[in-house]
Amino acid sequence: MADPPHILIAGAGYAGLAACLALGEALQGGTVAVTVVNADDRHLLLPELPLYLAGESGAGQVRLSLRDAVRPPARVQVAIVERIEPDGPALICREPVGRLQGDGLLLTLGSVSDDFGVPGVREHATAIGRWDDMRELRERLLADLHSSAASRVAVVGGGFTGVEIASELADRARGVRSGLRIQLIAPAVLKGMPDAVRRTAVSALRALEVQVVEGRAEAVEAGRVRLQGGGQVEAERIVWAAGVRANPLVAQCGLPVNRRGQVQVDVHLRAAPHLFAAGDCADARDPRTGRSGAPTAQAALQAGPAAVRNLLRDLRGEPLEPFKQRDRGLLISLGRGEAAGQIGSHAVQGGDIAVLKRLIETYHAYQVGGLRALARRLQGAAGDRRAPATEDRAAPVPAGIPGDKPSRS
Ligand SMILES: Cc1cc2nc3c(=O)[nH]c(=O)nc-3n(C[C@H](O)[C@H](O)[C@H](O)COP(=O)(O)OP(=O)(O)OC[C@H]3O[C@@H](n4cnc5c(N)ncnc54)[C@H](O)[C@@H]3O)c2cc1C
Repeated sequence: MADPPHILIAGAGYAGLAACLALGEALQGGTVAVTVVNADDRHLLLPELPLYLAGESGAGQVRLSLRDAVRPPARVQVAIVERIEPDGPALICREPVGRLQGDGLLLTLGSVSDDFGVPGVREHATAIGRWDDMRELRERLLADLHSSAASRVAVVGGGFTGVEIASELADRARGVRSGLRIQLIAPAVLKGMPDAVRRTAVSALRALEVQVVEGRAEAVEAGRVRLQGGGQVEAERIVWAAGVRANPLVAQCGLPVNRRGQVQVDVHLRAAPHLFAAGDCADARDPRTGRSGAPTAQAALQAGPAAVRNLLRDLRGEPLEPFKQRDRGLLISLGRGEAAGQIGSHAVQGGDIAVLKRLIETYHAYQVGGLRALARRLQGAAGDRRAPATEDRAAPVPAGIPGDKPSRS
């Protein structure tokens, strides 16, 4: 019997892990072989980063072991992809792993923080994304909460990431350190969300005494953010959460990309022969409107399985199926155990919405990693709260992943 086709999945994020899970039956039946390639041995629950940064969650809650998430006969290859070769297709990884050859390739390499060309972001701010930066930022923010190292924190970006970080941090500061001022800089809060959600978010920020500064960053300098059209915001700690662009490796491989660096895919999520893409790094458009989807975990969780199923059909010479994303809404946590958002066409808010948001991530952890991941997530929470300084010691993260933008605060 000929060898089963070998699929490489580049990236063990939301799209990559959901894709691997979707191949379960074919994998168990031995009709396909899969290797998931990821820069480290953990899956990061990005939507929980704001809680992690504010000290409300520990590393054990936001990072799942890939040993739990990728089960045999699927393989995990911990390796840093340095180049994508669409012809073949192949991944060229940092030595000692080197070249990985597949019959088919699924790109799910996610996104990186975008500085939009604003000078000084790398040097004077911490951009949301890379795990080692997040760990360091959390330590600094927690130190700010318990000492007078910094008295002003500026969060740049009024999307859900910026709003969640500012509100969770302000919530944590209440009753711990009254002198810590949290400032949110953005031209608008939650642009594109329904008015009711935006109003709820603005009043939640106000109740938490987050100062909302309307403006666009022009430059980041030591201790301040200069605004377009004049004015500046002074802060000892600057967090950059202004937006993302696709992992630059995708644009570097020569396939056509959009202005956010996402690879163009057709209605089947195919970018090139035997090469499909999903999640933040792919420009999956709604066939009815022609509009690109927002980079969200829920979109990645739907597109990953659809893309890998089509890749398998492609390798078998079977007809492909068009991908249609279902919009299930978006929830934003707003501190004080509150959340708001949109489910279908309904604006929702309240404490039960915050519980729902956490349940969604817990369910995701259970889905990808089963009971073991769930137990570790709960144990991690207890362990991290007991001894935050020792978190994650067992899993060092390689530095310098191509496409990552080193930053410091
Ligand atoms: C703070 C924050 C809060 C968010 N909140 C929400 C929310 O509430 N709801 C929602 O729907 N979405 C939310 N999102 C967006 C969501 O997390 C992303 O859209 C989602 O993670 C995209 O999934 P992905 O699989 O495309 O990429 P990712 O989940 O980012 O996975 C990419 C994977 O590729 C790996 N990788 C990258 N480069 C390399 C390399 N060179 N070599 C090897 N491996 C590599 C990474 O390690 C990672 O495992 C949030 C994002 C952030 C940052």
